[in-house]
Amino acid sequence: MEIISVVPKGYCQGVVRAIQLAKETAQQYPNKKITILGMLVHNQYVVDACKEIGIDYVEDTKKSRLELLDEIHEGVVIFTAHGVSDTVKEKALQKGLICIDASCKDVVKTHDIVKNHAKIGDVIYIGKKGHPESEATVQMANNVYLVTNENDIDALPNLHNVLVTNQTTLSIIDIQKIIEKIKIRFPNAIIQDEICNATRIRQEAVLNLKDIDCLIVVGDTKSNNTKQLLEIAKNQGIPDTYLIDTVLSLKKEMVKNKNRIAVTSGSSTPNSITSQVIQFLEEYANSGNWNLPDSVTITLL
Ligand code: SF4
Repeated sequence: MEIISVVPKGYCQGVVRAIQLAKETAQQYPNKKITILGMLVHNQYVVDACKEIGIDYVEDTKKSRLELLDEIHEGVVIFTAHGVSDTVKEKALQKGLICIDASCKDVVKTHDIVKNHAKIGDVIYIGKKGHPESEATVQMANNVYLVTNENDIDALPNLHNVLVTNQTTLSIIDIQKIIEKIKIRFPNAIIQDEICNATRIRQEAVLNLKDIDCLIVVGDTKSNNTKQLLEIAKNQGIPDTYLIDTVLSLKKEMVKNKNRIAVTSGSSTPNSITSQVIQFLEEYANSGNWNLPDSVTITLL
């Protein structure tokens, strides 16, 4: 059995920056209540580790960021790497909260593209409904239309001077299909693909895998970029694909009788968690012993 550690994988620059900012905030405001508006990044182990250094979070997937903000009454609020709308920022300031913005620069770039174009034409934004990045971006102007799949395109009203852009963590394969269909309805649309480099190169690394029996993706089911790695692998025809949160979710049946097993991880997955999975599988490949560890190794950065 051969274990292939896919490169690149794991933390991206946006996630590293968000975690660094959170840690610095904890040091800077030791006597204030610090709350993250949502999950800092979509990984439960990261937000739990933040809690251990005194940083709480509020999350309810049924609530918008604006509604969630009602649950924060004092101290410091940290906006997540997924970006935040101006309306939320203004409301936080009105509430007298100290605001720390961990929005990823790649997401902010998309916000700027949307804001600028919305002054001269309509914007079609391809994204996931209910995802905080989409939620913030569609609020950048009134004439931004969210498209989540090919079926949504027919339901769009007549638009003028259309620009098409997208959530940074979508599948590089799925988005092309949606863009092709948009081009049929709006042939003159300007296309500005904003899948971020971190997402793109992690997906391309999976696309480039050869002769793999099984791909294990390490990450949180709430993480869009993590789930997309799984989808890409399925599209690639890799026979078996699994999404696990940590080494403790590994099952012997997943890897039994496999010759080449690849391991990758989403850009919000701590590298220590992925390393533990790879190390365990390598030991199993060498010894044949299946003795899962008692606990998960977490290193925030
Ligand atoms: S996945 Fe991309 S957009 Fe999201 S935080 Fe990382 S670099 Fe930024």
